[in-house]
Amino acid sequence: MRRRDFVSGFGLATLGACATAPAETLAPPPPTNPYASYVPLQSSLSRVTRTVVGHRPYRPMGYRLETEKLGQKTVIHNYGHGGCGVTMSWGTASVAADEATATGARDIAVLGCGVQGLTSALILARRGHNVTIYAEQLPPHTTSNVAGVLWMPTGYFDRSAVSQEWLAMNRKLIRLAYYGFLPYVNRPGYGVYWADHHQLGRRIPSPRYELPGGDDIYPALHTSTENTLFGYAYEERFKAMIIDPDYYLDAILQDAQLAGARTVRMRLASIDDVMALPEQTIVNCTGLGAAGLFGDDTLVPVKGQLSHLLPQPNVTYSYVAPTSSGVLYMFPRKTGIVLGGTHDEGNDTLEPDPAQITRMVEGHAELAARLSANA
Ligand SMILES: Cc1cc2nc3c(=O)[nH]c(=O)nc-3n(C[C@H](O)[C@H](O)[C@H](O)COP(=O)(O)OP(=O)(O)OC[C@H]3O[C@@H](n4cnc5c(N)ncnc54)[C@H](O)[C@@H]3O)c2cc1C
Repeated sequence: MRRRDFVSGFGLATLGACATAPAETLAPPPPTNPYASYVPLQSSLSRVTRTVVGHRPYRPMGYRLETEKLGQKTVIHNYGHGGCGVTMSWGTASVAADEATATGARDIAVLGCGVQGLTSALILARRGHNVTIYAEQLPPHTTSNVAGVLWMPTGYFDRSAVSQEWLAMNRKLIRLAYYGFLPYVNRPGYGVYWADHHQLGRRIPSPRYELPGGDDIYPALHTSTENTLFGYAYEERFKAMIIDPDYYLDAILQDAQLAGARTVRMRLASIDDVMALPEQTIVNCTGLGAAGLFGDDTLVPVKGQLSHLLPQPNVTYSYVAPTSSGVLYMFPRKTGIVLGGTHDEGNDTLEPDPAQITRMVEGHAELAARLSANA
């Protein structure tokens, strides 16, 4: 807007009041920086406290949530949640628990003590079942402890391998899972809190699809092509739950035990060991272990690696960002900053890859520099 145009738009009284003001004050205010309060991430190798590796239990056709009759036993399968087993836990475990209750059995075995086994056990124990969890590993030694975690239902099926019916069921379970987690936000000791999340893109989607489960379960959702974080072409910004599994799993294990569930630490070497259990109703939450135990050759490990940085208490935002070296994501926890962005299908090794540590630390540092430059 030229100054002449600007002035002519005002009444005389206004003009009089401003007559002595310097020209600069008539210029439009600079655009407000929506990230003025964002503290840049301090991402450097010297701030890395640990690097962890785990295997997402991935099935192209999505998680297996199914009841199978094996001799006298009823086995309810609940495994194969890929990169979103924590996110989906209150959805899929609720269905598995309902199936177990429907058998009419009082005594129920839950195989596995990751997030799916624990949530199933907790629901069943609170209903008054006698629940025994059989697991080789308990928290903090499960894959669920390795996870990020951003509550975001992505990365757990191949769209070309699932039916419309599965997608409709999945949508319901996403919503169930979301509402299951809400009561835990900011509850002391559970490690669940909101972050200002940014889902960043290099292209403006056309058409734009709803977020998984429906836009209404992403509070304060705002899509933008201007003033985006790090200057991306497009962003979807909303409040997302960050779940610190080290706190959360301990807390729900304790809740399950308080409700009467007991744990038995043991490795089930084969299906014969499962058939020898005293319970007739069994909820199978063995994650990747289901491949060997129940012969599911559709299960594939997807190796993921996370580096934890020293905490920055004032970092309360999170992001998933595509970069020239691959996707990078950052989730702030109270105990540290989680850096991620690796996805190695079929790789069953557990050794951290030093090149990936460097890629992630440097990649996040480059993004942080863009934030500083815009400050
Ligand atoms: C790097 C990384 C990042 C991730 N980020 C996220 C995220 O941001 N959000 C999200 O929702 N998810 C995330 N995930 C995925 C998530 O970790 C998994 O989907 C989830 O942990 C699966 O939970 P589960 O309970 O099925 O399996 P697990 O946690 O693997 O638990 C399996 C249990 O079964 C037991 N078991 C297995 N076999 C046997 C056997 N033969 N005998 C006895 N016990 C057995 C194990 O000991 C264990 O107790 C991530 C994963 C990785 C690796």
